[in-house]
Amino acid sequence: MTIPPPLSIRALDLIGNTPLVRLEGPSREAGCDIFGKCEFLNPGASVKDRAALGIVRDAEARGELEPGGCVVEGTAGNTGIGLALVCNALGYRCIIVMPDNQSREKTDTLLALGAELVLVPPTKYSDCNHFVHTSRRLAEETPGAVWANQFDNIANRRAHIETTAPEIWAQMDGRIDGFTCAAGTGGTIAGVGLGLKERDENVVVALTDPHGAALYEYYAHGELKAEGRSVAEGIGQGRITGNLDGAAIDTQFRVSDAEGLAWVDRLLREEGLCLGLSSGINVAGAVMLGRLLAAQGRPKARVATILCDTGFRYLSTLYNPEWVAAQGLPPIGRPGRD
Ligand code: PMP
Repeated sequence: MTIPPPLSIRALDLIGNTPLVRLEGPSREAGCDIFGKCEFLNPGASVKDRAALGIVRDAEARGELEPGGCVVEGTAGNTGIGLALVCNALGYRCIIVMPDNQSREKTDTLLALGAELVLVPPTKYSDCNHFVHTSRRLAEETPGAVWANQFDNIANRRAHIETTAPEIWAQMDGRIDGFTCAAGTGGTIAGVGLGLKERDENVVVALTDPHGAALYEYYAHGELKAEGRSVAEGIGQGRITGNLDGAAIDTQFRVSDAEGLAWVDRLLREEGLCLGLSSGINVAGAVMLGRLLAAQGRPKARVATILCDTGFRYLSTLYNPEWVAAQGLPPIGRPGRD
């Protein structure tokens, strides 16, 4: 990993090379050192900028994406934001297909960034009109277009093998005992896990799964089975995606929204970090991993996790006490509360 000298930095070089911070509260709770990779500092304010850039560069390298071409994806979230920015920087059209029941903030954000939006009625994944299938068809029908296909396109996890993992390794001086995060596409957990194990096979890689996802049961008992529900955006997977296929997962935890939200609250009030719910769930998992390693005779372990996106993306939801109360969850970010 090389950091270019300042005067030759281009906008796309701002993706990645994020800082790693020691998280004081989580470290105290777990009795070990817990570090968070600040992915909310990417230009699109999430970890998905890395996957967006990796997918676009891979399509270029394979000759599928040519100058003036177009990138199409079905996504309602951070990947669309990352793709829109990367496409602007490289002169490509960007078409995002999403269900028409998403928040106004999401549509407004994608439109503001210059993506062309195609809204379709929400429907089951098995329906051929689902937004993911629609995006694939649209890519096939549009001249010069490629389908990003973030779930099964392993250029996604390769971006983490080639950038996120070596960055964490270097930032921790090659002394890391465990890594954990949740999975959406699975690109981050699979890519960082494989990249760290390449350097030290003893690094324990743990999946932290939200409720409502099927991967905890799969890694624990070999069966894809979901339980409960979660309001966390961007995570919670029901199948073994192309990016998860062959991932090295040693152990797994299940974390509730209330547990994740408690960490979102503490990280904001105690450390000044305003983050989304997947980050809180990841930190809850990192505390569990630190305790597990201590119980296995590895006290003072060094554990890393991902701070996936900014909390500013959730002002009308997570940071809105009325919305949170309607979900039956405790409010966050209000000083003076017990
Ligand atoms: N957190 C957030 C907020 C996300 O948008 C995503 C991406 N879906 C993830 C976590 C999980 O990342 P990945 O797709 O690499 O599993």
